[in-house]
Amino acid sequence: MPLYKPRTKPSHLTILETLQKRTSLSSKASSDYARWLKGFEGEQRFDHFIEPLANEAYLLHDLLLKKQNTTFQIDTLMITSEKIYLFEIKNYEGDFIYEDNQFYRLPKNEILNPLHQLQRATSLLGQLLKSQGYTLPIEGYVIFINPHFHLYQAPLTPTIIFPTQLTSFLDQLKTSSPLTSFHKKLAEELHALHITDSSLNETPSYTFDNLRKGITCLQCSSLSVEVEGHKCICKSCGAKEKSSQAILRSVEELQLLFPEEKIKTQIVYEWCGQLGSLKRIRSVLQKHFTMKSVNQWAYFE
Ligand SMILES: [Zn+2]
Repeated sequence: MPLYKPRTKPSHLTILETLQKRTSLSSKASSDYARWLKGFEGEQRFDHFIEPLANEAYLLHDLLLKKQNTTFQIDTLMITSEKIYLFEIKNYEGDFIYEDNQFYRLPKNEILNPLHQLQRATSLLGQLLKSQGYTLPIEGYVIFINPHFHLYQAPLTPTIIFPTQLTSFLDQLKTSSPLTSFHKKLAEELHALHITDSSLNETPSYTFDNLRKGITCLQCSSLSVEVEGHKCICKSCGAKEKSSQAILRSVEELQLLFPEEKIKTQIVYEWCGQLGSLKRIRSVLQKHFTMKSVNQWAYFE
C-alpha cells in the first residue's frame, strides 16, 4: 500500500530557506528558520523508521485539522485495523529536565510541554472523529527522535518514546489484522479535512527590491554563480549546472516569494542578477511556460 499522505517540506520552511540566501534574516527569523529546519529533519528521521509500517496501515503525515475554530496539527497519524495512532515528533537535542509537570532545556529554560500538545491534539481529534461518526480508539505518543537527547527525571509514562525505545516500540505496533474499506474511508475523510493555512506562520517582510539578485548555487546556496555559455558555474564551490535549469530554479524561487507577480522576461532577468541575456531567458521561459499577453505585455504561466 502506498503512503497515504506523504510529507513535503513545509512552504514556510522553503520560504525562509530561500529568503536567507537573498537577505540577512533578523535573529528572530533566523532562529525560526533553524527551528523549522530541525523539526522537519526530525520528522523525516521518524518517517524513515515508520514507513515500513505503511504496508499494514494508513500513514498520514503533517495533517492540519480544524475542530470548531480550533486548528491543530498532527505530525504523523497512523490508522491500523484496531486503533488510530497519533505521533508528536520532537527533535530536541541536548540535556533537558522534567520537573513539576514541565519540561526545561538545561540550564533552565522552560519549553512548551509536548505532553500537553499531544493531549490537546488527541482530544480535538477525538471530537472531530466523533462528529464524523467514527469511534476507533486513539492513542497518542510523543516521540523524541534525536539520539543526542537526554531527559533527566523523565516521567514514567508509556506515552513518551525515547530514541533507544523506538525500534521495539514500532515493532509492537505491527498488526496482522487487515484493513478494510472502513479504514480507507476514514483515511480519505481525514485527508480531505486537511487544511493549508499559511497565515499561522509569521513570514519576515520583504520586497523584490530589497532582496539580493543573482542565481543561487544549487550546491552551496551562495550567489557566486556566473554564466559561461550554456552552463552556470559557482565561483565559490565550483558546482556546475545547465543554465536553463538554473533559470527555472530561479523562477520557482520568484513564484514562491512573489506568488502574485506575473512571470515576465525582464523580471526574471533582473532576479537572476542580469546574468546571461534577456534572449536566453526568454527562450527558456518560452520552452517551459505558456506565453500569454495583456495589452502589449507578454508574461508566462
Ligand atoms: Zn556553490
